[in-house]
Amino acid sequence: NIFAKILRGEIPSIKVYEDDATLAFMDIMPQVEGHVLVIPKAQATTMYDLPADAASACIKTVQHVGQAVQKAMQIDGSTVFQHNGAAAGQTVPHFHFHILPGSLLALKGHATEMGDPAELQKIADKIIACL
Ligand code: 5GP
Repeated sequence: NIFAKILRGEIPSIKVYEDDATLAFMDIMPQVEGHVLVIPKAQATTMYDLPADAASACIKTVQHVGQAVQKAMQIDGSTVFQHNGAAAGQTVPHFHFHILPGSLLALKGHATEMGDPAELQKIADKIIACL
């Protein structure tokens, strides 16, 4: 799947944070400016087959990166969510948390437009500066 390819470095991504167990990068089709994904390096499809140590590492990265997203996007709140299985709306079968600045309830469904890579990089740089 596409996130496994990103982890193997076979396709590019706009990274904001990486450690031994996790990677955080810009969503290519952002639902709002500052939409970031956090994935484990361990293989897992959903929350239900995610090893506990990988889950813990993901939460730690969400805490670190989520606060930077809020600072960078100058908003005092964010939404963290994830989908388990296609029936729930999961389109990439590698576990991932979404971090969205602001409220998910204000949005309708999936984004449909690709982000401009130069704009995504600018936002990534802002987030990185807040880490
Ligand atoms: P899901 O619906 O599975 O929870 O979310 C998958 C997310 O991955 C979507 O928001 C989609 O825009 C994003 N995505 C899909 N393919 C790629 C890709 O190749 N690169 C990046 N950075 N994001 C992707």
